[in-house]
Amino acid sequence: MRTLLSPPRITAARLPRWCLRADWPMHAAQPALADLRLTPQGRIASITPSVASPAAGDWNLNGALVLPGLVEAHTHIDKAFTLPRLGVLKPGLLAAIETMNADRAGWTTADVRERASRCLQWAFDAGVVTLRTHCDWWEPDVTPLAWAVLRELAEEWAGRLVVERVSLIALHLFADRDDARALARTVAASGKGACLGAFVHSTNWSAASLRHLFEAAEEFGLDVDLHCDEELNPQAEGLATTAALLRELAFGGRVVCGHTCALAAQPEAQALATLDAVADAPITLIALPTTNLLLQDAQTGRTPRQRGITLVKEARARGIPLLISTDNVQDAFCRAGSFDPVEALAVGALAAQLDQPFDAWSETVCRGDWLTRQPNTPPLQPDAAADLVIFTAADAHGWPTHAHSRVVLRAGRVAAGSVPSHWPTTAEVTP
Ligand SMILES: [Zn+2]
Repeated sequence: MRTLLSPPRITAARLPRWCLRADWPMHAAQPALADLRLTPQGRIASITPSVASPAAGDWNLNGALVLPGLVEAHTHIDKAFTLPRLGVLKPGLLAAIETMNADRAGWTTADVRERASRCLQWAFDAGVVTLRTHCDWWEPDVTPLAWAVLRELAEEWAGRLVVERVSLIALHLFADRDDARALARTVAASGKGACLGAFVHSTNWSAASLRHLFEAAEEFGLDVDLHCDEELNPQAEGLATTAALLRELAFGGRVVCGHTCALAAQPEAQALATLDAVADAPITLIALPTTNLLLQDAQTGRTPRQRGITLVKEARARGIPLLISTDNVQDAFCRAGSFDPVEALAVGALAAQLDQPFDAWSETVCRGDWLTRQPNTPPLQPDAAADLVIFTAADAHGWPTHAHSRVVLRAGRVAAGSVPSHWPTTAEVTP
């Protein structure tokens, strides 16, 4: 088996503009290629403009694109891969919720474990280093079966993938303050990587319930991750209320709001004012272009007119941390997806007409720090682990199309993908 003993140097790598220091040299409006020196322990020793000719043992990438390890910021690995048994589906988000609720009645530990494990393997092979999954939670007093399975898997995958879990709880279960505290206590007690979450939608809207959620999260030291305004109803006010609550409560945790499709349906001035408040809060936004294209403005026999994607350009223009992610895969919500955030970004690049997907927007699938309480630690710094995704067939003009062929390095060693034959590899000696 060809395995890689950490190469002393990766030469002529094409890194995205956002990853490089401000004074990085440019050639023909493109960032100059980079040489990455790795330590024997698989950490990054240095990143410098490419000048040297490759030496024996180096990997000369000859301009191949390289990204830091990827983040899959919003998934549902409890529900993934249920599609083959769901029969004919009705269109739209609320119909999908109904279908999944019926299927969930038959879930067993073995079923959830098999499907969720497949998700993690797919993500790992794509180059993902951090995966956050939501877990459906519909009853106040019963912890879902999948929650325990996901916790076990997070422990089993530690060292390969950081797996974070969000309790996706129907908002009405926070209506009573004591119930909200009990839920937060249960989530906090389930260990590292657990966040308090809720489904916040105009059909279940309650500002009081949302307040109870944040008060409980604060009390138990939890970060919050909401499914928020996943609809094209301009009346939806989950995001605006969240931003106002954070300010009022001086909330200390990290807050993430996924979807926020309603911004795209609201009067522009109102939507931009909400984004200004989101920037101040601050809140990390997550766009899920694939599922929103499929589920928003969806009716049988009618071509959708609206795209459902949130205001990604306006958010980034305000410096709002924004990630793009996969969401559902092969379940009642979405038949597509492969736990490859680059694939989700490819959909987003078309749906939202994104310029410079590699140099500017690849940041939205790499900034795992935007999910944390220390959101200003970009990857690929000296001394960071050499977790890299090398795209062996794509170029910066067409990326993220033709991007499936890749070599994944974890701590400088090949973890997935086929190494091109002209890159030298060494059989690794294991003690
Ligand atoms: Zn979701």
